Amino acid sequence: MNDDLQISLDTLDLIAKEEQALQDIFHNIDLTCQKNSLKVLKAFQKYNVSENYFSSTTGYGYNDLGRDNIEKIFADILDGEDALVRSQFISGTHALTVALFSYLRPNDIMLSISGLPYDTLHEVIGIVPNNSSLASFGVKYDQIDLINDDFDYEQITKYLKNNHVKLIEIQRSKGYSTRKSLTIDKLEKVIKCIRSVDQDVIIMVDNCYCEFVEEQTPLSVGADIIVGSLIKNLGGGIAPNGAYIAGKKELVDLAGQRLTCPGEGREVGPTLGINKSLLQGLFMAPSVVASSLKTAILTSKTLQDLGYDVEPKYNEARADIVQNIIFNDQEKLIKYVQGIQMGSPVDAKAIPMPWDMPGYEDQVIMAAGTFTQGSSIELSCDGPIRPPYIAYQQGSLTYEYGRLGVAKAIDELKN
Ligand SMILES: *Cc1c(COP(=O)(O)O)cnc(C)c1O
Repeated sequence: MNDDLQISLDTLDLIAKEEQALQDIFHNIDLTCQKNSLKVLKAFQKYNVSENYFSSTTGYGYNDLGRDNIEKIFADILDGEDALVRSQFISGTHALTVALFSYLRPNDIMLSISGLPYDTLHEVIGIVPNNSSLASFGVKYDQIDLINDDFDYEQITKYLKNNHVKLIEIQRSKGYSTRKSLTIDKLEKVIKCIRSVDQDVIIMVDNCYCEFVEEQTPLSVGADIIVGSLIKNLGGGIAPNGAYIAGKKELVDLAGQRLTCPGEGREVGPTLGINKSLLQGLFMAPSVVASSLKTAILTSKTLQDLGYDVEPKYNEARADIVQNIIFNDQEKLIKYVQGIQMGSPVDAKAIPMPWDMPGYEDQVIMAAGTFTQGSSIELSCDGPIRPPYIAYQQGSLTYEYGRLGVAKAIDELKN
């Protein structure tokens, strides 16, 4: 036993051996990290980040120099014309909700082409009834499922030819599903296909968990608008909350009108002291995403060698920072998630149990020994309590802590 964390030497040896075999893959992650870091640094210098951006506004939040420049920097890094980056977004789901309510009107059709959207959007759309859903306002929803983890080009083309669709939603990360996440290559191909039949439909991408995994963004391959959370990749583990909407200027402005009030839009919104954290988080984000990816890949290879089903495999191309372990066994899922909690810096002695979470239909077990509540760019692991009992693990602020957390979880699994 290793004295402090009580990780067995067997497990530590195994991890060290697996890590050796991953050096080439890790090197490629470092190269992407280097390129994304350059992009960030260039944007900071282009917009003259200086100490006065760290000061903040209260009340209405008029003339917040830092906020306005943070939005320009996010736009630049995400290859968008503009961006709305606000702590008044409670979460990624809130930003997605604001975007959908900004663009959709009664009788409009929203079409998801990546199958069933993320759990928390079901009540937003009205897939699960809610008196404040888009459906309750008369917005229609339809869905085309993926086939073999890729878009159903034939159905999409046919649907767009026969219907006037206002907005297409594409979710890149898998959410709590068993499909693969969608890479930029796949996105580029489907956007070309959509544009060959429909020039006007708004293409909106749920980009949660995907930022800085690749060099290109959905906006560089033709998406109109993208949405993500700041307690995931782009917050770098430092942003205390918030989310972003980036893309076409007029769409970003519309979202601003909806987030605050028509007429006030983006002119208001106090930053209450968070500007420095948002900038510092963005600055750290390329490296934190790289650490998360390395932790995910180490997890994938080690658990595969221990005989578990994993997705993605360690040597597969990745679109996001999420690693699945398919346990096919409720107890093993629970043990593993509890082990991740035991290897965490915060609340390591709390034992997570399955519970009913707002916005989710099944019970969920969640390890979140994180500095920021619900932050999943920090090492975290969760899973709905339903077959095939999949753990969704993501994040780690550094690779070294990720490695320790995973070692602890593997040890729990073995016991
Ligand atoms: C995390 C996530 C969201 C938003 O979740 P919040 O917890 O509300 O920030 C939406 N879509 C996907 C695919 C996600 O991974």
